[in-house]
Amino acid sequence: MARAIEIVEVGPRDGLQNEALLVSTADKVELIRRCIAAGARRIEIASFVNPRKVPQMADAEAVVEALGRPDGVIRIGLVLNRRGAERAIAAGVDQLGAVAGASDTFGVRNQGQSSAQSVDEAKTIIALAKAAGRTGQVTIATAFGCPFEGEIDPAHIVAMARELAEAGPCEVALADTIGVAVPAQVTALVAAVRQAIAPLPVRVHFHDTRNTGVANAWAAVEAGAVTVDASLGGLGGCPFAPGAAGNVATEDVAYLFARSGVATGLDLDRLLEASHWLSGIMGKALPSSLAKAAPFPPQALA
Ligand code: ZN
Repeated sequence: MARAIEIVEVGPRDGLQNEALLVSTADKVELIRRCIAAGARRIEIASFVNPRKVPQMADAEAVVEALGRPDGVIRIGLVLNRRGAERAIAAGVDQLGAVAGASDTFGVRNQGQSSAQSVDEAKTIIALAKAAGRTGQVTIATAFGCPFEGEIDPAHIVAMARELAEAGPCEVALADTIGVAVPAQVTALVAAVRQAIAPLPVRVHFHDTRNTGVANAWAAVEAGAVTVDASLGGLGGCPFAPGAAGNVATEDVAYLFARSGVATGLDLDRLLEASHWLSGIMGKALPSSLAKAAPFPPQALA
């Protein structure tokens, strides 16, 4: 088991994109700053996609500009095609995140591309990022199951990962976009992909639709994943995946690993403060378990 992992904060993008309440640019920047104050050093800050399809991300450029360049922080922009890559590069993000769909049906609904087309597009995005002096990473969406096609053949995911790795990303991620994965499946797929793309690292991305999210994160790290995506408060969902619930909550994942002796670089108190603040902005309780629980170990009585 690793002694330390990296948690990528995806709340400002994956967390917010499915929310009907449009969050102001200023509040998005405040969210990112609070995550940085809690220790986040790699953050998905926006997606550069069609604003008619994802209205919450229409201010991507404005978020990048208002945030500036916080010291030591890698700012990720999610992109689905060449046009998005050009926008993200022009806006000045540090890292481009591409998405390849494991199934044709999800790929077409999410980004208008078959699985093979999305792999080609991701390779183009990675090349554009590198040519512009940035880094590129890629996430294989619905790697553990598709809302339309059901089970996905693990051999297909391994083949996709191998092909994507050849384009020179800084990592390949496996995403459970709809939250169907279970730990045994995670253990097997992370191990297989890791072997296929070594020494390139594996990142994982889990949604907690069926209450298996943190168990999956644990299984993934045990199997050698070094980076886990998480969203403050457990906010999130996918507008193109019916029934998909939020991401694993950053504070829940940080608690699990920190109390198990695996460092995350995150400050739990500050994460919880930020989570409660975000709950106020969204006007509702967030899915996070830790945010609802009493502190542990208990704080000394004054
Ligand atoms: Zn997601």
